[in-house]
Amino acid sequence: MKNSNGGTVASEAFGCRTFSGAVMRNYLPEDVYRKLKLTMERGTPLDPAIAGTVAAGMKKWAMEHGATHYTHWFQPLTGSTAEKHDAFLTPTTDGGAIERFSGDQLVQGEPDASSFPSGGIRETFEARGYTAWDATSPAFIFRTGDTPTLCIPTAFVSWTGEALDHKTPLLRSIQAVSQHALRILRVFGTHVGVSQVITTIGCEQEYFLVDRAFYDRREDLRLCGRTLLGAPAAKGHQLDDHYFGAIPERAMAFMSEVEQRAYELGVPLKTRHNEVAPNQFEFAPVFENANVATDHQMQIMQLLRTAAEHHGLVCLLHEKPFAGINGSGKHNNWSIATDTGVNLLDPREEAHTNMQFLVFLLAVVRAVDLHADLLRAAVASAGNDHRLGANEAPPAIISIYLGDMLSDILAQLEKGAPRATKKGGQLHLGAHTLPQLPRHSGDRNRTSPFAFTGNKFEFRAVGSSQNIAWPNTVLNTIVAESLDHIATQLEKRVGRSAGPARLESAVKGLLRELVRQHKRIVFDGDNYSAEWHAEAARRGLPILKTTADALPALAAKSAVALFEKYGVLTRRELHARVDVNLEKYNRTVGIEARALVSMLKREVLPAALRFQTELGHSVGALQAANVDARETKAQLEYVVDLTGRLHRQIEVVEHAEAHKADSPKTHAEHVRDRLLPAMAEARALSDALEQIIPDDLWPLPRYAEMLFTR
Ligand code: ADP
Ligand code: MG
Repeated sequence: MKNSNGGTVASEAFGCRTFSGAVMRNYLPEDVYRKLKLTMERGTPLDPAIAGTVAAGMKKWAMEHGATHYTHWFQPLTGSTAEKHDAFLTPTTDGGAIERFSGDQLVQGEPDASSFPSGGIRETFEARGYTAWDATSPAFIFRTGDTPTLCIPTAFVSWTGEALDHKTPLLRSIQAVSQHALRILRVFGTHVGVSQVITTIGCEQEYFLVDRAFYDRREDLRLCGRTLLGAPAAKGHQLDDHYFGAIPERAMAFMSEVEQRAYELGVPLKTRHNEVAPNQFEFAPVFENANVATDHQMQIMQLLRTAAEHHGLVCLLHEKPFAGINGSGKHNNWSIATDTGVNLLDPREEAHTNMQFLVFLLAVVRAVDLHADLLRAAVASAGNDHRLGANEAPPAIISIYLGDMLSDILAQLEKGAPRATKKGGQLHLGAHTLPQLPRHSGDRNRTSPFAFTGNKFEFRAVGSSQNIAWPNTVLNTIVAESLDHIATQLEKRVGRSAGPARLESAVKGLLRELVRQHKRIVFDGDNYSAEWHAEAARRGLPILKTTADALPALAAKSAVALFEKYGVLTRRELHARVDVNLEKYNRTVGIEARALVSMLKREVLPAALRFQTELGHSVGALQAANVDARETKAQLEYVVDLTGRLHRQIEVVEHAEAHKADSPKTHAEHVRDRLLPAMAEARALSDALEQIIPDDLWPLPRYAEMLFTR
């Protein structure tokens, strides 16, 4: 299949260990191959009669690659992936064994579902859950060490058919976008030959690398993936000398292993570079259709974690491993395209004449304006709260950056017909030997949470450890609603077989209304500034600072109606997600609190007491020698004071952690208002102690070591 840039989708180009493209053709009879290909590329419903033949081909191929087992591979609400392996060999009564992998085994599995979070959908006494083959995402062979396993992407549902995973609603939301986008194409007469509209995703993944030896000595990193205490190092990223710098050798060896493994899996990694913070890096793939891109994104995270171990490193995917240092996100580049390869968010040459582009653009603007709270809720997690709250990632306030050119066109639309596209102009590089580059008119604004970047939107608030299926499900659903609204309006105003003049005036009229109603969500300025926060409040945009504030939006009646209307999630399924995420927030912070207390009691307090003793001896020795001991005594008093306060603050944290609330929601509020502030206070005391306790007494690796050891 061609992607929207006209290139071949990379999973086929690399396809040695994925059941797609040429591999599929070699292992399947021609007619079956064609049918499966149609399902994968054009979304044609799968013919159940071919499952047996596909299973046989897949098994043959997998066994030739050394696989002895297969697994249905799925994405439960834990946020990670799940697998349970079954052998191809089945023992027979005569002591032998036969190879078996039937169509039924390919199409459906029945893992014991009782231990996966379901948010109350599936009671444990009806623990059955089913996995169902997703024929649109290629099966792949994953190597764990040297052991290859055939992995079959599947959806995971309860016995009532309710979604227990992230893939099912994502697929439903993609369908909703397609249905309503097609209606708009029909109005413009550009639908010919298009059988579905797809959403495309290319996700930039940021991460940290830390030396394994340090990681092993930090309980917080091992249990929570982030440091719960740690005084700042003298150097952070003030000098901006890491960003795009030369990649250190060990990191490069790691990256090249990840890339090698990724290509085997058909995951098209494309760029690698140093990020802003010390020891922070990034990978980005070539974009693909949303469903496959999501599966591949999960594989990338797994590869990052496992490959790091081969290089004496640990890969931290947490959103904020180090306080005061830039956190990690996932820039979710997203667009809509026809399955014939037309990117519907590409303005082409003269943006103002491209009415259809403007319609799709404003559909997204309208969606984000009406449902900014849902987008915020879709990226809410304990980890991401640390990132969205600080002036380094986009703020928790969702707004859209369009850039000069488009903002100008919108202003013209509002007044009447747009006359001219602001030309990008030339960039003067100040050196005659360099070519003059045309200025990209979608220039960069790194502070915006949702930026138009020339031919796609970049949703930057997504957390680095998150499964991207959920934020994209929410994004697709709100966009589907806007496309539906706009399609209905256009169908009404244009009618059937309207001439171009009628079409143009109807579109212009509608665009003008949309700009008037939704321009408040557009903000091209500095999202970090205090003025913007005040301005956003004036504009009535939702300001949802924490997960506890953000998640309830998804449980609102209006949200339920929206998700039900587009067939993405039922009330129960949506509420389940809210509950699971609230519980996850509560449990995550609970674990952090207990790990913090444990480290403070076992490591920090004993070090502080030893230092007190040393200082005490020193004061005694000085006094015995009749030397002025005032400075040393003052230092001793300072340490005694900090230690005493830390002692008491640990009790405050323990008390807050032990609190029991009636519901996940009220507990989340308690976590936000009591537990997290208590932990921050304890940390501040510990960090103050760390800054004066000598190296031979301080038991933990320090920020300077973890961040600057390459
Ligand atoms: P930057 O860091 O400048 O934002 P990168 O090149 O690191 O850019 O990442 C851009 C990402 O956007 C890549 O993964 C790329 O494949 C993806 N992308 C490009 N076009 C589209 C599109 N039409 N739909 C979705 N993603 C896209
Ligand atoms: Mg980017």
